[in-house]
Amino acid sequence: MITFEDVDKVYASGEMKVHALKGVSLHIHEREFVSIMGPSGSGKSTLMNVIGCLDKPSSGIYTLDGINVGTASSKQLSQVRNQKIGFVFQNFNLLKRTSAIENVELPMLYGGRAKKERLEKAQYCLERVGLKDRMYHKPNELSGGQQQRVAIARALSNDPAIILADEPTGNLDSASSEEIMNIFRTLNDNGNTIVVVTHETDIAAYTQRIICFRDGRIETDRFNMERGVI
Ligand code: ADP
Ligand code: ADP
Repeated sequence: MITFEDVDKVYASGEMKVHALKGVSLHIHEREFVSIMGPSGSGKSTLMNVIGCLDKPSSGIYTLDGINVGTASSKQLSQVRNQKIGFVFQNFNLLKRTSAIENVELPMLYGGRAKKERLEKAQYCLERVGLKDRMYHKPNELSGGQQQRVAIARALSNDPAIILADEPTGNLDSASSEEIMNIFRTLNDNGNTIVVVTHETDIAAYTQRIICFRDGRIETDRFNMERGVI
């Protein structure tokens, strides 16, 4: 599903060049549940941006479901993103003055879907994350964990095969973090491929495979024996 062959990513900021990914080769299969760990600056966010087709490799080949992302047009890439990928962020990135259900509807609105379909689908997605009774609350009327659940429901609204989450529990207490990881686990059991960036070993412990980055390279890539192989 996700294949990296010797991928490099170089950022040029003025005279300076930052080599954020160096010769990364990686295969993530459909329905895997993977965590990406590593110190700050090791390339985790860059990797997620490339996987999510927000950014292209500088060299090497990234194929997503048979599509060569490096040579695809920006129109193709935005299509791929909308159809295949759901993003979840550390800061939830919800619209503040807008109810939970409207936040979840948003990607479908951009996708040009009809109002009735959007409402039904948004309700269903909020139900999947256990928030049906908070549909009309605004973000500031919800706890951090609940806001992240709204963000997950929004990510689910376009039926993505892949969910990419960059530090999804970074701003949450441990009880809410556990809740969020259990939701990801259920989504994974139901067929989603999930990639989570985290600094915390307790969070990585929920996943099946733990990939550690250092200085833009994969340092270790192992199955999480404690959780058990699928
Ligand atoms: P993280 O919390 O994952 O370590 P960072 O704070 O390093 O994230 O980066 C946040 C965002 O800023 C990322 O999307 C990254 O692409 C961008 N960024 C990081 N470093 C730089 C930089 N030196 N110049 C410009 N943008 C950067
Ligand atoms: P991590 O997520 O592991 O903290 P990042 O992928 O954010 O690491 O960053 C890897 C390296 O690339 C860092 O040195 C960072 O400063 C740099 N970087 C990230 N994004 C940019 C950017 N947009 N422009 C310039 N440098 C960047």
